[in-house]
Amino acid sequence: MISPFSPLRKGLVMCVSGPSGVGKGTVISAVLSRKTAVAHSISITTRSPRPGEQEGVSYYFRSKAEFEQMLAQGDILEHDFYCDHYYGTPRQPLIEKVSQGIDVLMDITVPGSMTVMKNYPEAITLFLLPPSFSELERRLRKRGTECETTVQKRLQKAWEEINMAHHFKYVVVNDHLEQTVDRILAVVEAEHCRYVRQSGIESIVLSK
Ligand code: ADP
Ligand code: 5GP
Repeated sequence: MISPFSPLRKGLVMCVSGPSGVGKGTVISAVLSRKTAVAHSISITTRSPRPGEQEGVSYYFRSKAEFEQMLAQGDILEHDFYCDHYYGTPRQPLIEKVSQGIDVLMDITVPGSMTVMKNYPEAITLFLLPPSFSELERRLRKRGTECETTVQKRLQKAWEEINMAHHFKYVVVNDHLEQTVDRILAVVEAEHCRYVRQSGIESIVLSK
């Protein structure tokens, strides 16, 4: 909900990173189902849709040439090349949501979060860790969406990604889903309480 004290309050941008299979997509959906003024930034990818993934809901699925054209036009806020495919955040929808006071959660790679951190220091960065590496592997395999070669590539990448956790402002271990959601919502609420995000609020109070 937009605070009555600051109707022009901007939404937060939260980058959620973590290894493939840790539960980023699951956690973001669970946050969205609990809180209304939160949206997921729908990315563009050149990978093929998985069964059940819908155009414009899970991702915008585009060819490599289309992706590169959008990049050249400046339509992509940040991007990465991850396990043989491009992934990127469309610029305009994110800017619109934030200016409407909607908090935007981005499910992006570690280098993607680094780019956002550099270009948009107000953004919040949060790293999701699995309870253990074996549980990560179990979740990735249980999802059953990748062939063995891709699972191996993603697990290998997971080691590098987990070793980048110290670059993030917040770290949450995604053990019990509801507890993870509680923690993310607590971070969102605390971030909204930071003075810099409510600059001038005291003069509004004094004028009443
Ligand atoms: P990511 O988006 O990080 O690749 P997913 O959201 O697709 O990961 O989750 C990978 C698998 O792990 C899914 O089968 C999901 O149901 C499961 N999962 C997610 N969070 C949890 C959790 N807290 N406990 C147990 N399983 C989970
Ligand atoms: P998946 O193929 O499992 O959906 O996603 C693979 C990886 O791409 C995940 O780490 C996910 O966070 C990341 N990803 C998804 N969208 C974007 C994006 O727009 N930008 C970046 N940098 N990474 C993304």
